[in-house]
Amino acid sequence: MTIVIMKFGGSCLIDKNAFKKILEILEIYKDDKKIIVASAFNGITDLLLNTAQNVKNSKIFDDNITILENKHINTIEQIFDEDTEHYTKAKVWVDKKLSELEDALEDIKEFGLEPYYKDYVLSFGEVLSTYILNQYILSKGLESVYIPANKVIITNDEFNNAYPFYEFTNVRVKKLIIPLLENTKKDIIISITGFIGRNKIGYTTTLGRGGSDYTATILAHSIFEVANDKNIKVILWKDVDGLLAINPKYISKSTLIKNLDYKEAKHIANFGAKILHPKCLEAIENKNIPLELRNFNKPLEKSEFTKISAMTNKNEIKGISTVEDAVIITVSSGSLVDVPGVLAKIFKVMSKNKISVSLVAQSASEISTSFIVKETDSLRALKALESSGYFTDFFEIKSEEVAIINVTGFKILENLTKVMIFQALEKKKIRVKAITQSTEELNISLVIKRENIEDAIKIIHDDLCENFEEEENKLRDKM
Ligand code: ASP
Ligand code: MG
Repeated sequence: MTIVIMKFGGSCLIDKNAFKKILEILEIYKDDKKIIVASAFNGITDLLLNTAQNVKNSKIFDDNITILENKHINTIEQIFDEDTEHYTKAKVWVDKKLSELEDALEDIKEFGLEPYYKDYVLSFGEVLSTYILNQYILSKGLESVYIPANKVIITNDEFNNAYPFYEFTNVRVKKLIIPLLENTKKDIIISITGFIGRNKIGYTTTLGRGGSDYTATILAHSIFEVANDKNIKVILWKDVDGLLAINPKYISKSTLIKNLDYKEAKHIANFGAKILHPKCLEAIENKNIPLELRNFNKPLEKSEFTKISAMTNKNEIKGISTVEDAVIITVSSGSLVDVPGVLAKIFKVMSKNKISVSLVAQSASEISTSFIVKETDSLRALKALESSGYFTDFFEIKSEEVAIINVTGFKILENLTKVMIFQALEKKKIRVKAITQSTEELNISLVIKRENIEDAIKIIHDDLCENFEEEENKLRDKM
């Protein structure tokens, strides 16, 4: 028996047809044990945040509450027959939760938007959507149980971006979820709210925006640790086929990445392919739990989806991504060759000013150090370095607007791949200004002039990814 943990994002919960689709999907996976993780309805988390931030503006406040109520009530009216048991339960729930929400918003008016309040307010999106979805499943004659994730996922105290404590979460999973999964008499679907957890003293926390993906993998992790059956799979239902190798803005027929390894996927998720929450792979990679990204509109699709697992083709580049709003700052000195602590000083200035540094290149001789900051932070970064005194006395500070190309995949570890990348760039006379790849890292980052970005991507794609599709299909055939 396989345990399938499926996450439905807000775009899978938009109307009657979408709910029907969920039912179809449950039917496709009828022989598996199913856990459903749901996000808030589309746009609701943003709306809740906006409301919490505008508690004192009665116009925005009232308008938002009305939209919030209408969105949920409209969905209820679409998906249930009027005045049936489940219709009534869903409506009563919305009333009850909205009144709790309004109480919390009153508190915020009085005490300010503390991080704790923010998470509590944001949690209502998932609490509403998941309960409604659960009632819908019940109304179709299936067995289903609603579980708010703050009963199960225990996190640290980092509000807005919490991390799970697995040892405590495992205990909850064992107590609340395993008995339902291992019930041999009944086939019970478990509907769990995405995105939320609680800290040890019971305050609601959230896992970071887009965190429902993470909920699904945290549950997979804990179930793996405490269930007898370790045959677990995670499916994230999306409104796209999966991860693309390159942003289609650059290469119009960009290929879907069909197979990739956890480490490769982490790089790709981090480089802004907003399809997958970067934190969510942490939970499953050491357990080899496979994760599929699938298109909600093509639930029966046999080959056009992304599978993240231990199986990967090491002979192909997995993705080429870009950072376009980068500025490279170079701090150099002609005299201070062997002075320790220069890097520490630079990064202390950056950290004091809360400027995040994304790439660092330094020659062994310490004469010059280059690092990347976001364009929006660059003026602040330069000013901070200049006003620190130390650097203006002995160093020269330069900056330049640049772009970064990241090439990701196991293949990057081979020298020959690097040769091919540089040969490709040479054809277009594109100069690489700085370059980084740390030990064993499945990614190489190349800093180039911004105006070269399109040419660079095209030529790397043409020279290195030609057989991409072919290789992908070969691997799938073997699986
Ligand atoms: N509803 C939350 C958000 O919009 C979590 C999620 O959708 O995954 O960030
Ligand atoms: Mg959402």
